Amino acid sequence: MNAALPATEEAARAADADDPGWRDHFVVPPAEGGHYAEAAYLVGNSLGLQPKAAPSMVLDELDSWAKRGVEGFFEGDRPWLPNPQQLAESAARLVGALPRETVVMNSLTVNLHLLMVSFYRPHGERTRILIEDTAFPSDSYAVRSQARFHGLDPDQAVVRLRARTGEQHLRTEDIVDLLAREGHTYALVLLGGVNYQTGQLMDIPAITRAGQAAGAVVGWDLAHAAGNVPLHLHDWGVDFAAWCTYKYLNSGPGAPGAAFIHERHLRNRDLQRFEGWWGTDVQTRFLMEPVSQPPESADAWQISTPCALALAPMRAALDVFDKAGMATLRERSLRLTGYLAGLIEEITPGRPITMITPHDPAQRGSQLSLRVTEGTAGELVRRLRSGHGVMTDAREPDVVRVAPAALYSTYHDCWRFADALTHVFPSK
Ligand SMILES: *Cc1c(COP(=O)(O)O)cnc(C)c1O
Repeated sequence: MNAALPATEEAARAADADDPGWRDHFVVPPAEGGHYAEAAYLVGNSLGLQPKAAPSMVLDELDSWAKRGVEGFFEGDRPWLPNPQQLAESAARLVGALPRETVVMNSLTVNLHLLMVSFYRPHGERTRILIEDTAFPSDSYAVRSQARFHGLDPDQAVVRLRARTGEQHLRTEDIVDLLAREGHTYALVLLGGVNYQTGQLMDIPAITRAGQAAGAVVGWDLAHAAGNVPLHLHDWGVDFAAWCTYKYLNSGPGAPGAAFIHERHLRNRDLQRFEGWWGTDVQTRFLMEPVSQPPESADAWQISTPCALALAPMRAALDVFDKAGMATLRERSLRLTGYLAGLIEEITPGRPITMITPHDPAQRGSQLSLRVTEGTAGELVRRLRSGHGVMTDAREPDVVRVAPAALYSTYHDCWRFADALTHVFPSK
């Protein structure tokens, strides 16, 4: 229905009345430009909006600290000690994992390193790491430094997957073929579930199977996938995954990250792991023994004391996800992004933009990426922001990313983006 909505402001408003999502749980920044009070916030893929419940939850932690001091770890409505595990239960639901396969800790790149300590174990001719050429820079730096850490030349050890000449997206069949041919040289396949730049949703189960059939370990960076698309990490047999919680998961700037380790690895006593006291069993943690006793769960990867203040907004955010449910969110996301894609298609002729995100909704999440062929992406983003209160983001030199978030973005936000674009680029 929605992809076929007429491209009028009234139709967008009417669709919002029918399909309001969970916007009233979030604080929308002011527009500061244009005709509307609120910004059209289309950068939830970069930093999700603040849940309205977040400030009081942070204040509760400060209050507990003030009233209880150290006893706040064990007492009060939300004692700090079990807090990360309770959050991990909600996080696990979002990614199709068992609670004991999931842990909330550190931040994304740190977690990738800690997981590579366990799962990137080059030996013999099996030394390479497969990433995408358009991998997020932090992931690229992380894998290169891991290769160096093992005494390898990162230019040799790290292989970057490129799309075919003239194409924007990676083809699953090409990745599967590569792994069938050269898989015996790969120790690790580490790809983004949804590519941060093109918005392509990868075929996670097929690539996981192909990597594992070749004898490699397969891990996923789900920064742009968690809270965006439904995931079934346990059933797909993914070896490990890590994601941040400040993008689609709305847990606040620099909020703690999360990690998944498949159940079949949890009992493996031979896995290498960097340990600290938070990774010892909670029953024995305070016995202060010299040798740790890690539980058979993802908690074994924890190292140090989590920050209760930083976890508080995540509770507020994951409560909304628990209420909404990922399957329902995906349906709304398909309607919203389908509507935006339809608007973009309609205004593209005669304008210097091309959509580089797959047209097939099954191969993308919320985000659509546009390549701009006149001026820079940064200029376009600034004009949309200052003249129209429309917030998007630029990946210089020429990619603009637009992501309606299923929880809080509106059809009217999408309409405003398309309308503003027609003002910035009057058609020729
Ligand atoms: C956002 C993002 C990161 C950011 O990493 P941090 O360690 O949280 O700063 C890393 N990788 C990908 C793919 C991302 O999209």
